Amino acid sequence: MRTGQRPSFCYHARMTLRYIDTRGLDDARPAFTEAVVKGIADGGGLFVPERIPAVSLEDVLALAELPYAERVARVFGWFEVDVAPHRTLELAQAAYGDQWDDPRIAPVEEVVPGMHVLELWHGPTSAFKDMALQCMPLFFSEAIAMQQEAGALEDDFLVLVATSGDTGKAALEGFADRDHTKIAVFYPHGGVSEMQRMQMVTQRGSNVAVFGVRGNFDDCQTAVKATFNDPGFNRWLHEEHRLALSSANSINWGRLLPQIVYYVSAYAEMVRQGGVVAGRPIDVCVPTGNFGNILGAYYAKRMGVPIERLLCASNENNVLSDFIATGTYDISTRAFVTTPSPSMDILVSSNLERLLFHLAGAERVRAWMRDLTERRRFQVDRDTFRAVRELLAGDWVGNDESLATIKRLHDETGYLVDPHTAVAWEVAERLRQDNPVLVVSTAHWAKFGADVLRALLGMRHSDPLPPQYAGLGPSSLLHAVTDVAGPRACIPAPLAELEGLPERFSEVVDAGAAGVQGALRSWLGPRGL
Ligand SMILES: *Cc1c(COP(=O)(O)O)cnc(C)c1O
Repeated sequence: MRTGQRPSFCYHARMTLRYIDTRGLDDARPAFTEAVVKGIADGGGLFVPERIPAVSLEDVLALAELPYAERVARVFGWFEVDVAPHRTLELAQAAYGDQWDDPRIAPVEEVVPGMHVLELWHGPTSAFKDMALQCMPLFFSEAIAMQQEAGALEDDFLVLVATSGDTGKAALEGFADRDHTKIAVFYPHGGVSEMQRMQMVTQRGSNVAVFGVRGNFDDCQTAVKATFNDPGFNRWLHEEHRLALSSANSINWGRLLPQIVYYVSAYAEMVRQGGVVAGRPIDVCVPTGNFGNILGAYYAKRMGVPIERLLCASNENNVLSDFIATGTYDISTRAFVTTPSPSMDILVSSNLERLLFHLAGAERVRAWMRDLTERRRFQVDRDTFRAVRELLAGDWVGNDESLATIKRLHDETGYLVDPHTAVAWEVAERLRQDNPVLVVSTAHWAKFGADVLRALLGMRHSDPLPPQYAGLGPSSLLHAVTDVAGPRACIPAPLAELEGLPERFSEVVDAGAAGVQGALRSWLGPRGL
């Protein structure tokens, strides 16, 4: 399909790819914007494209000549999004504009021969969630406007997020001052790093609010879920404020589509840089939590990008690498472990359901997801297991080993990585064969400064920081890291400047739906009309 040569028919005449769901229970077949607003399918399944567009090698390589926003518009065009092409490009330009500290947006760096790092942390919050969350809210807001105009929707949306740290800030930054939306974030009081707390409570924007919750992350999530399911509260929101609730979470297709783009883009980039011969395969190694990032690579492969193996890197919460080894996904006896890579500390990798759908179909997915709910485990059949093994290889890295990898890589190359990236680097080194490997880097090291400092000092994850560092604020600590790491380690401006910003949000509320709803009622006020 050659988008560039497609004549510009009016909006209605263009083809529109529709979405089906992984459990085969929702027959609405929404277009892109409808799937984005709806979020999850009726029956609990996830939306997947009814067919995956095929592109030629020339189409892929041509991206190397375009600015990143145009690459995004190209790929969105291949997926036939139901937004006019000129408008798609405008939104992509707004999403990937000068809020990024590198105009290449997702650059590829060959750190040692054959090992290429895809840097996904040049966005405003210095972590990979920005790749999707700078973009998705724009299309979400656009989708609401389209549906309101068509008379299919009355309300604006209030996005509720329970966060253990990283997602909250990226969602706030993405939704801040977006039309038709408000966002409220709930984090465990005392349960996020000082850096993460400061990033959230200093958030700008007139439509945002941030609340600490007396409890842990699970308490936050439970209270937010209970609020979604409370008909009285939903009625109050609609009647008093013309608002409906949305979660915009990582299973929303609107967050996945932008994550396909950077894999197509990276292959074109590697060919241009001479890292791979055009048409020859690469392997991709991804530090994996909810399986959303690596799923982007799967779709890129299915579209025709020469990606051979998907290397799935886990930390000590290694349920995915166990699944790839055994064909059984089992969390029935598994305890949650705390690691230096908290954004991968996940037991239920929700997006795996999409891969299983493409390999095995809705009927089997339905049975497996029922098993997962009822017995906390499921086992795939032999054919599916063989397909998984052909596609994926996996391994996991221990806490102290991931810190040792940061130090070793820095000592050998001068390149400094965060603990999530270190997990991927280590797994890539273990599993690499002949293909060049694209190692996906998901956070700037400065987001996890304390553990990076431990790593550089040869310490373990559980060691307390030496006394001269223990009392430092989050920005000051980063300067201590650069003193140790040397001049190549620079700090992104938003993180360096955090300590100087005013804290806008200080409220801490009780756990439970009453705490969350009380916070929202007093923030929104008694009456919005
Ligand atoms: C979210 C996140 C991941 C995991 O990505 P998934 O899409 O959940 O697999 C890895 N690293 C960082 C820094 C993240 O924020």
